[in-house]
Amino acid sequence: MRLALLILLPLAARAVAAPTPQVIDEAGEAWLKAHLAARRAELLPPRDPGRIDARIDLRHCALDLSPNLATGFLDGVVTLCAASRVEGLADLAFDLHDALAVSSVEGAASFSHAGNVLTCVLPQPLALGEQACVTVHYSGNPASVGFGSYDLSSHAGTPILATLSEPDGSPSWWPTKDDPADKADSVDVRIRVPLGYTATSNGALVSADTLAGVVTWHWRERHPIATYLVCMTVTNFVAIHDQYQPAAGPPMPVVHYVWPEDLADATVDLSVTVPLIAWYASVFGEYPFVDEKYGHSEFTWGGAMEHQCNTSYGAPLIRGDHAYDWIVAHELSHQWFGDKVTCATWEDIWLNEGFATYSEALWTEHLNGGAALISYMNGRCNVTDPSGPIYDPPGTFDSNTVYKKGAWLLHMLRGQVGDGAFFALMRDWACGPFAYGSATSADFIAHAQQYTARDLGGLWAGYLYGLNRPNYGWDWRSRTVGGQPVVEIRARQRQAGALFDLWVPWRVSAATTQVYWLHDRLLRQGFVVPLPVAPTGVQIDPSDWLLESHASQTMAGQLRHLALLARFADGGTPAAGALQTRCGRTPGSGAWVPSLDLGVTALELRELAPTWVDGDSLYIEVESLDPAHHGERLAFGLRPTTADWQDLGLRVLQAAPAPAVEISLVGNQARLDWEAVPGATTYRVRSCTQPYLGVWSVEGETTATYWEQPLTEPERCFQVTALFGQQ
Ligand SMILES: [Zn+2]
Repeated sequence: MRLALLILLPLAARAVAAPTPQVIDEAGEAWLKAHLAARRAELLPPRDPGRIDARIDLRHCALDLSPNLATGFLDGVVTLCAASRVEGLADLAFDLHDALAVSSVEGAASFSHAGNVLTCVLPQPLALGEQACVTVHYSGNPASVGFGSYDLSSHAGTPILATLSEPDGSPSWWPTKDDPADKADSVDVRIRVPLGYTATSNGALVSADTLAGVVTWHWRERHPIATYLVCMTVTNFVAIHDQYQPAAGPPMPVVHYVWPEDLADATVDLSVTVPLIAWYASVFGEYPFVDEKYGHSEFTWGGAMEHQCNTSYGAPLIRGDHAYDWIVAHELSHQWFGDKVTCATWEDIWLNEGFATYSEALWTEHLNGGAALISYMNGRCNVTDPSGPIYDPPGTFDSNTVYKKGAWLLHMLRGQVGDGAFFALMRDWACGPFAYGSATSADFIAHAQQYTARDLGGLWAGYLYGLNRPNYGWDWRSRTVGGQPVVEIRARQRQAGALFDLWVPWRVSAATTQVYWLHDRLLRQGFVVPLPVAPTGVQIDPSDWLLESHASQTMAGQLRHLALLARFADGGTPAAGALQTRCGRTPGSGAWVPSLDLGVTALELRELAPTWVDGDSLYIEVESLDPAHHGERLAFGLRPTTADWQDLGLRVLQAAPAPAVEISLVGNQARLDWEAVPGATTYRVRSCTQPYLGVWSVEGETTATYWEQPLTEPERCFQVTALFGQQ
C-alpha cells in the first residue's frame, strides 16, 4: 500500500511537466547512439573461455559426499552428465583441483588429471547434442580457496564443515564445469554424516536415512543451478520451521538450520524471512523455488552467501535484535537476482550484487518510505570515488563499485525511466527470457531499453563502463523572452575524464514547484524553460536520483561557447569525427576546420572568440565527411548578443546523392572510378585509415570522375564527395 503511493508520485509530477522546455543544443540522438554502440563494442571484448570446456553443455550432476568431520578428508562420487555442443566430441573436460586424487571414472575409456583439469576420454565420440554421463570417484583433503570453499572449523566444541565456492571454488571439492554461464540442469546432493549431525544443501530434502550409524542426507535441486551455488553445510544443527504461503499452490517450507546455542536469537532474527519472501514475490514475481524451499544454514563466516534455496548465514550476524535484517534481505533477493538470473561472467557480477544491494534499499523504502530510501542510498550505499567501472570492476567483490555503485545504477535507471517502467523491467528481468539462466550486462541493457523511449546509452556509458560521477557547476537566472517568463539554466560538467550524457532533474520554483528532466550531455549547456510566472529558485537533482556532485557557479558573461550536435536531414547518423566546420561573417566564408570530437558524449564545435560573438552576424557551416551523408551540409545563422545563448535552428542547405565509387588496385596504385553526379562541378577525394574513428584527410579535388592514388598502408578507405558551385 505504501509502495503503490510512492510509485505514483514521481510519475504524476512528470506528467504535468508543461509547457515543454526548449532545450538548446538538442539534436543528434542517432549520432550519439552509434558512437556509444562503437564504444561499447570496444569495451566488451569477446570473453576468453580459459579453462572452461565450451564444447559441452552441463546437464544433471549427482554428488555423493562422505566428509570426515575430524580431518576434513573427503571421499566423493560425482556423476556428471553433459551434452556435446560440437560434432564428434571425443572427451569431456571438467574442473577439479589437483589436490584431489581420482581413483576411477566410470563411463570413460580412460582419464587424465593434471593442471586442475580432469579429462575423461569417451568410449565413442558424441554427436552434436548427444549426452554422456561419467561417474568420478575421488578423494583427498580439499584446499580451501577464496572465501572458504571448503572450511572445517568448530562451534562450542562441535565440528562444522561449510562450503562457499563463489566465484570459482567449486572444483576444490567436486568435479564440475565451473562456469556461471552454463548451469547444471539439476543436482542431487547426498551427504553421509555420523548420526547426530545434519547436512544441508540446495533444493528440497528428499530423505535422511540412517544405516549403521551413518545418515545420508539427500537434497534435490530440480531447477537449474550455477555450480558456484552448490553447497554443503554439516554440524549439529537444530531446525526452525516456518512456512511461506504463495499466492497460488501449497505452503512452502522455510527452514533455518542453526546452532543449538543460537536457537533463541536466530528465532528472533530470522523471523523477518517470510515477510521478506512475500514482499519480494509481490515485486519481483513469485519466489523462484517455491516448489522446493528457502532457509538459512548457520556457518562461521562473518557474512552470508546466497546458496540456492539455502543461504549460508554467518554466526556473527545472529544477535537476536534484527541488526542484520538487511543481510537477510540481501541474500534472499539473490534468489531472484543471482540464483534465478545469474551473471554469465564475473565481469557482470553487478547483476547479482548491485541488484541485491538495491533490493535492500527497496525493502527499507517499503518499510519506512521515500526519505528512508534516500538516506539508505546516501548511507549504506554511499559511493566514494574513485569508483567504477561497474562492468569488469577493479575487484569482483569490490564493495564500493560492485555493490554500492551497482545499486546506484539501478536507482538511477529508476529515476530515468520512472517507477512504473522500472518495476516492470525488474520483474520481467527475473521472470522473462533470462529466468533460470544466465545473462550479461549487454542483455540487461537491451532489456531495459525496451521499457523507455529515452535512450539510456549515456547512463551505461557513464556509470556501467565509465569512472566516477559527473560534477556539475550550474547557475540560473530569470529572463523574459517576448513577454514570456523563462528560467535559464546553465550547467557545466567539471569532472575529469569523459562527459556524462544524462537526463538531469531540476526543481524550479515559480508559482508552483515543478521538476523538469533536461538532457545534459555537453561540456557546457544551457536550457530555457518557459514558465507561467518568473522563477524564484532552482535546485539540481533535489531528490537524489543521480549519483553526482554539484556546486553553484556563476557563469554570467561566459556563454560565448557554442556546442551543438548535428542531425542530418534524414535523421541519420553522423559518424564520430566525420564533420568539419567553418565560421564567417557571410555564408561560405571562413576556412574549414575539423570539428572537435569530445568522445562518447558530444560534439563540440568551438569556443567562440568574443569578437565573433559581439559582431552583427555569424554563419556556421557544418559539412559531413560521413560516407553515408557526404555532400550534406548543415548551416547555422545567428545574430549573437553578448552573453545570450541562441537557439540556432538547423537546416540542410544541400544534400547530394552519394556517387557509387569503385576501387581497383594496380600495383601499389589505387584507382577510383565513380559515376558523374548531375550538377556537380567538382569532386573532393578524402581518405582515412579507419572509416569511422579515424581522421579523414582531403587528398584533393578533381573535375574528372576518376582518381589515382599511390598506397603506402596495407589498408585505406576512400570517399568521394560531390561539390556543387563554388566551394
Ligand atoms: Zn550479495
